[in-house]
Amino acid sequence: PIRLDGLKALVTGGASGIGHATACLLAARGADVAVLDLDPSGARAPLLGIKADVSDDASVREGVAAAVDRLGGRLDILVNNAGIGAVGTVEDNDDAQWHRVLDVNVLGMARTSRAALPRLRRSAHAAIVNTCSIAATAGLPQRALYSASKGAVLSLTLAMAADHVREGIRVNCVNPGTADTPWVGRLLAAADDPEAERAALDARQPMGRLVTAGEVAAAIAYLASPAAASVTGTALAVDGGMQGL
Ligand code: NAD
Repeated sequence: PIRLDGLKALVTGGASGIGHATACLLAARGADVAVLDLDPSGARAPLLGIKADVSDDASVREGVAAAVDRLGGRLDILVNNAGIGAVGTVEDNDDAQWHRVLDVNVLGMARTSRAALPRLRRSAHAAIVNTCSIAATAGLPQRALYSASKGAVLSLTLAMAADHVREGIRVNCVNPGTADTPWVGRLLAAADDPEAERAALDARQPMGRLVTAGEVAAAIAYLASPAAASVTGTALAVDGGMQGL
């Protein structure tokens, strides 16, 4: 298996779902891992949980500094994963909702990267992995704002890969399909008949089941690892064949 011994990693939104599975996997592969989250209580030892809000620049700068400090003054891997959802057509979300979702999903990744880049520059194995989504390119119904935010994450990933390739910093993203996380659990719980909704959701997947958080984490761990030393500016779909690219 891919090993990450001696590497220092930071995962945003690492207290739940895909981020938590990623933080746990990076740690299991030998990395020292800090988690930035609005509610870090889900990140238990050996993960270093730090409270931070990616929509607040001062909070991000303090959180990244605290994480690097607790990781022994170094940083090799940044996983920009924190994100929030939005449901509806372009008519359903008002300006406040647009500002909020873009602030967390897009600016959150830009802010955290800005705070982390000076540290990553000093690493011999620097990698950034962004959690994007198949929504970036799939044209999903009822996801106008969310899709726009993930389209921006995809473009940001490609632009950052170009900007930092000469510095030895790789930047990639993963595009999960619908993944079995507390996020999807919350969406299902809000349905009239959660069990029927879950069965219908499974049936819509080409593999007849949702992607697991651990499967997305494995892709992130690969892109973050020295095994992917020549891989930058890519989007790796982990979607059970959903998008058919
Ligand atoms: P989740 O809700 O289970 O976990 C998200 C975590 O991010 C939570 O711990 C939350 O506290 C944290 N977070 C939210 N806003 C934050 C903020 N402002 N600052 C710091 N932390 C914050 O969700 P998940 O399903 O694991 O999603 C993680 C990422 O995966 C998101 O970027 C999401 O867009 C993406 N994604 C999810 C799916 C899916 O089907 N679950 C599919 C594609 C992409």
